[in-house]
Order: sequence, then C-alpha cells, then structure tokens
Amino acid sequence: MSEKKEDVRFGKFGTVSFTRTTRVNDFIDYLENGKVMYTHCKTCGANFFPPRADCAGCLSSDMEWREVSGTGKLVSYSELQYAPVGFEKDVPYSIAMLDYGDYQVFGRLDKGLKLGDVKIGMMMTTVVNHLDNGQLNYIFKKA
Ligand SMILES: [Zn+2]
Repeated sequence: MSEKKEDVRFGKFGTVSFTRTTRVNDFIDYLENGKVMYTHCKTCGANFFPPRADCAGCLSSDMEWREVSGTGKLVSYSELQYAPVGFEKDVPYSIAMLDYGDYQVFGRLDKGLKLGDVKIGMMMTTVVNHLDNGQLNYIFKKA
C-alpha cells in the first residue's frame, strides 16, 4: 500500500540527513540529552543556527557548541499546509523564528498552542520534543 512506501522513503530521508556529517550527529546527541544547541565562532563571535562546522563569516573552524537557553522573542510564524516528503502526516503545523538577541532559532511551534493565542513579540522557549515514533525534534513553547 502507499502508506508502506512512504515509511520506506522516510527511513531513507532520515538516514541521509542524520549521517552525513558528525556535526549533525552531535546535534542529535545533545537533543537526546534534552539540549538544543547552536554553534559559536571563537574567532569572530558569530553564532549559527542550525549549527555549522565552519564560520560563514571568517571561515574559521574554531567553533564551540552553546545551548539555546532562556527565552526568545517570536519574530515570525506561518502555518504550513504542505510538508516536505516524509513529513506529510505532520501538517498542518506552524514554523516560526525566535530572536534570542545574539542569534535566531528557526523551528516549529508547539502543536498544543492555538494560533489565536500566538502573538508576534511574545516570549517563547525552545524545548526538546519526543515524537510518538521515537524520534526527537524541538519545538517552541509559550514562556
Ligand atoms: Zn567567525
């Protein structure tokens, strides 16, 4: 059936995106420990989310992991009706951007939030979320 086919594709999608670089594996390890991380360039001070192995600003590889902690301000969000291959069952969901001052984090809003309660400028936290299928992601919750 078509549903079985989708599951196979999802497996491949996960394998490709999660094993390509050790940086991504580190990010997953941190998620398993309940932490959402970004990388900070020790040479020029730039911050990157999603994490990068090399600085886009000064090309340094002297990067360190830092935890996304505290609250960020919601700067934008939008509800998606269509999702990338492998995520069809998740829609509709809302993607959003939080401004933490020194860096911005892009992700999903907590599905438990009603869109009517979501306001630009509200303070939110980034938390690790355990999915029913055993995988992990992170979501934004009301602070
Ligand atoms: Zn740099």
